[in-house]
Amino acid sequence: MKEAPRSPVYVTQPALAPLEEFIPYLQQIWDNKILTNGGPFHQQLEQELARYLGVPHLSLFSNGTLALMTAMQSLRITGEVITTPYSFVATAHSLLWNGIKPVFVDIEPDTFNIDPRQIEAAITPQTTAILPVHCYGRPCNVEEIEEIAANYGLKVIYDAAHAFGVQHRGSSVLNHGDLSVLSFHATKVFNTFEGGAIICKDARTKRHIDHLKNFGFADEVTVVAPGINGKMSEVNAAFGLLQLKGIDAVLAARAAVDRRYRTGLRDVPGIECPQVPEETHPNHSYFPILVQPGYPLTRDELYEKLRAAGFYARRYFYPLISEFPMYRGMPSARRDNLPVAMRLSLQVLCLPIYPDLPAERQDALIELILSV
Ligand SMILES: *Cc1c(COP(=O)(O)O)cnc(C)c1O
Repeated sequence: MKEAPRSPVYVTQPALAPLEEFIPYLQQIWDNKILTNGGPFHQQLEQELARYLGVPHLSLFSNGTLALMTAMQSLRITGEVITTPYSFVATAHSLLWNGIKPVFVDIEPDTFNIDPRQIEAAITPQTTAILPVHCYGRPCNVEEIEEIAANYGLKVIYDAAHAFGVQHRGSSVLNHGDLSVLSFHATKVFNTFEGGAIICKDARTKRHIDHLKNFGFADEVTVVAPGINGKMSEVNAAFGLLQLKGIDAVLAARAAVDRRYRTGLRDVPGIECPQVPEETHPNHSYFPILVQPGYPLTRDELYEKLRAAGFYARRYFYPLISEFPMYRGMPSARRDNLPVAMRLSLQVLCLPIYPDLPAERQDALIELILSV
């Protein structure tokens, strides 16, 4: 007799603070009747997040995609922007929504991030900025990217949706570039149900971004730009304050899951667990493995085998952004321009990682990979 199937294990499951601890926050909102527009919880979360992350200024948004779009607006980015195909579609979509042309360049095999050597070759007179992604929370080659940006007079906006709490050489990776953009979506390490933020270096830039996310209003009668509605609500901000209290425990639990995978999958021929560089303090937002020719199954065969057993690993990032219909006709989207990204998108599998993943379920998953 086969055992009854266990409940499915998804690639992630949000960490949620206890509901009863959230009620007092809701009571305050019901008492003061301030639901949005930069209310007290919104202001408090901006301050506490900036302090926790070790960044100078932070502006909250209703989601990461609107934050990315507003980041481009705030720096008046136009023309062409050099970016990576190996990311979630929102990275490139934020450019198209601004009438900006994405120019895809290949990634580095060991970091999954944009290859600085490819950036220079893709610069044209229309290039105004670089939009790299700290993929899986692994820092980009920030020093080389900044050198290129300085040489060519380009802006750098980091899509840091995976990089909450990540440190690079002893300080927050979010302090690199002109702006960094976070997502607090339910699937991310720190979530506010939906949410996001732009990190910037000075108070004037923050003020401008704050205007842009509120229709362009600078005061009751002054509209300084064709802004959008990107504001985070008080409910989301209050929840973020509560979530922030538990974030260190969340990160520690993720680290333990990461260690268990690395030990369990240490000597499996054809399965590689890419290391995080020494100078990085990671957040364990994802656990990518590479399924290589030495393994008896292809990546897709392993993906199906795990699914059949109730383990929903994800092929992040397959297909590449450059494969989607709105991008694939672009010259930079050609597959022979992106060989490393193409190869990795066919080999990578992100295994389930989240604080409440039971060790016994994780061991069962590891056993499935070993038993092929
Ligand atoms: C999640 C994510 C986004 C979008 O964030 P939302 O808050 O869901 O809008 C953008 N870029 C990357 C790399 C992401 O993973």
